[in-house]
Amino acid sequence: MKNSSIFTKAVHAGLDRSENHGALSVPIYNASVFAFADADEAAAIHNEVVPGFYYGRIGNPTTAALEAAIAELENADAGLAFASGMAAISAAILTTVKVGENIVAPRSGYSTTQHFLKFIETEFGIQTIFVDATDAGAYADAATDRTKMFLIETPSNPLLNVTDLREVAEIAKKRGIVTLADNTFATPFNQRPAEFGIDIVVHSGTKYLGGHSDLTAGLLAGRTDLIEKARQKGAKLFGGNIAPQVAWLVLRGIKTLALRMERHNSNAYVIANMLASDERVYKVYYPGMPSYANYEIAKGQMAPGFGGMVSFDLGTIERGRAFVNSVRLCALATSLGGVESIVQHSASMTHATLSPEEREAAGISDGLIRFSVGIEDIEDLKADILQALDNV
Ligand SMILES: *Cc1c(COP(=O)(O)O)cnc(C)c1O
Repeated sequence: MKNSSIFTKAVHAGLDRSENHGALSVPIYNASVFAFADADEAAAIHNEVVPGFYYGRIGNPTTAALEAAIAELENADAGLAFASGMAAISAAILTTVKVGENIVAPRSGYSTTQHFLKFIETEFGIQTIFVDATDAGAYADAATDRTKMFLIETPSNPLLNVTDLREVAEIAKKRGIVTLADNTFATPFNQRPAEFGIDIVVHSGTKYLGGHSDLTAGLLAGRTDLIEKARQKGAKLFGGNIAPQVAWLVLRGIKTLALRMERHNSNAYVIANMLASDERVYKVYYPGMPSYANYEIAKGQMAPGFGGMVSFDLGTIERGRAFVNSVRLCALATSLGGVESIVQHSASMTHATLSPEEREAAGISDGLIRFSVGIEDIEDLKADILQALDNV
């Protein structure tokens, strides 16, 4: 399995046919408690001298299958599942970085991660230095002798900024800094950060891995010592474990990940190029266009494609609102990564409470539309976008 194609891996990831009577679908273990044969076994499992399950917050066989699956897909040593992407991110950060140490992170990225970083600074004194992550050298320049973690999000939400994974990993290794990369947008189909030397990969499984807009989940994959610490301190002490029923849904989603991503990639590529040649559109954010900043870096670390996310700027709040009010096939919603196409207008939704100046500082222009391009027929999608642009 280790050397097979991602198309093959996605279908088989996490399944051990020598278990569970050969069931081709991992059974859902609706169990929070696991009994021991005797006191010796109880002691050995509790103290992790031998592998085994004992309590649902720390592990469950269905969840373990999902954890094995994400490790296989990401080409990483170990995996860990959570109830949401934020549970995974917060556990990874709080089990790696201590009070008095700091983090270097992108100035522009997923808004809740940004809020989390600001929260742990004001409440716990764990400082984050925000940098322009499109320049790998900015991480080196910002790092101090107290820096414990480099956070990366590439391509980033919602601006599709690209960070050089290999370069940042190298800078970190020289200084003993842990790297954490959010791979939600690319998915392991297009990009596997561990192969570039990243220590921990994080996913919102809510998005492409689940893929059907029907669950929330989070995943970590990476170095065994860091993942085990996240399990022993993050999952065990903070909670936030995924339910086995949800773990099963993510496993089912992963079986078609490669097929779905292939279509997300090709649909987004067509949509981005169509938007780029439309004079009603001010700017297109898509890492797969030669004119885009860091296109060469994206090409070097993403393959076979650039993912299903495209953002574009329509100039003003009014035009952004008119666009999202005019789409018919695409849904107006806040998530991404599902089979269905979703549009979002950041200035009137996620960033509505900010002043225009604050939005500008965050790189969110008033007319910015984030488009999660689904797997529908490309002609139907093009027609919907064009008719909506007619109303802008
Ligand atoms: C959605 C998202 C998250 C958060 O994941 P949840 O499952 O909503 O907690 C983190 N990072 C990125 C890039 C996301 O898009």
